[in-house]
Amino acid sequence: QTTNAKEYVDSVFATLQKRNPHEEEFHQAAKEIFQSLTPVFEKHPEFIEHNILERMSEPERMVTFRVPWVDDNGKVQVNRGFRVQFNSAIGPYKGGLRFHPSVNASIVKFLGFEQIFKNSLTGQPIGGGKGGSDFDPKGKSDGEIMRFCQSFMSELSKHIGPDTDVPAGDIGVGGREIGYLFGQYKKMRGGNEAGVLTGKGLDFGGSLARTEATGYGTVYFVQEMLKYNGESLEGKTVVVSGSGNVSIYAIEKATELGAKVVACSDSGGYIYDENGIDLDTVKRLKEVERKRIKEYVTEHPSATFTPDFTGIWNIACDIALPCATQNELNDEAAKTLVANGVKAVAEGANMPSTLDAIDIFLENDVLFGPAKAANAGGVAVSALEMAQNSSRISWKFDEVDAKLQEIMKDIYKNSVIASETYGHHGNLVVGANIAGFLKVAKAMVAQGV
Ligand code: GLU
Repeated sequence: QTTNAKEYVDSVFATLQKRNPHEEEFHQAAKEIFQSLTPVFEKHPEFIEHNILERMSEPERMVTFRVPWVDDNGKVQVNRGFRVQFNSAIGPYKGGLRFHPSVNASIVKFLGFEQIFKNSLTGQPIGGGKGGSDFDPKGKSDGEIMRFCQSFMSELSKHIGPDTDVPAGDIGVGGREIGYLFGQYKKMRGGNEAGVLTGKGLDFGGSLARTEATGYGTVYFVQEMLKYNGESLEGKTVVVSGSGNVSIYAIEKATELGAKVVACSDSGGYIYDENGIDLDTVKRLKEVERKRIKEYVTEHPSATFTPDFTGIWNIACDIALPCATQNELNDEAAKTLVANGVKAVAEGANMPSTLDAIDIFLENDVLFGPAKAANAGGVAVSALEMAQNSSRISWKFDEVDAKLQEIMKDIYKNSVIASETYGHHGNLVVGANIAGFLKVAKAMVAQGV
């Protein structure tokens, strides 16, 4: 039995590598999940019979498209757009759009694959998808952003809908972009299908607490991890990488719960403020003025700026929250954090820790909250936004926030239970992967080949 399950997982992984050559990020995300699943296939041979893992590894559909747009100088530019519709076993495809020059098929597939399990973990009826473009929003005017979004949606609108595929934001896609995308979708369809996108503005179908949800959710998850280990956030020193939507609201909630956040970053480097980061400054610089984080030190001379993005992990802290991007925290950084006494790490970004870094945290008994559990609050509230849109009502901030807290508690609990049931006590990486997998696998078996 044991060899059968392991042989099965290994052979599906070999197939995945062969079918997706050179897609390192997709291989990495798959490897982390596959490694967790052997005990599941030992216990459930029917999942091998139905070849569930190979079926899950192949997207149901993947579209790649040309996105032509005109820049402010009248020059015609071309970018590449993607949407991967990975798995719809438990609900319509759901997942963000990322606009960043690094976006390619591998990145979109790694994100889409992760999203299947994350979305399942939320307990909401949403399948897995992801999309984006290699368009670089940095330095673009508002008009350029709008024209790009309109061109992107002119094609994407043919593939999405409130009951089929519901995109949202990710890196480089926030409220402004969702607004332009929604406006164009409406023109293409000639009707107001509010539930086609989430993360909308509050004036046209958006949900209260969606903006805050990913960052708040990550901190609620940390709160659970600490609580069950006799600790709390009170008085803890926290380092949060990034300074985008996830980071800002992680800093806000951690501070509210009594922690001191001393550092954050962007791709240009990190700021350190031993008095605690002044979040109003970060919010204004990043959300309103769209400036670089190094500007923070001109307003706060007690703070320092270091032009080295990954150097942020050299700062001693009790809790580290990588909230920037994939592979931002490697084995060296993990060793440094451990040597400096880190107690808990939770991933606000998707796949921010390398596989080696995760091993180091687990070997050293650091409480580790993997991305698909710790950052699921964003997509969970997206599902709540869809629910509000379908029933044409809007819930109050506190109602949504209370539901988010319940969801994060359930994710923690279900991950712990799965880790124990399958013999990996307290390993939330294994627990989250298994808990997320089981629901999708059972749905696929029930629905036939
Ligand atoms: N991009 C976010 C994520 O990685 C949110 C996706 C959504 O709300 O659909 O989960």
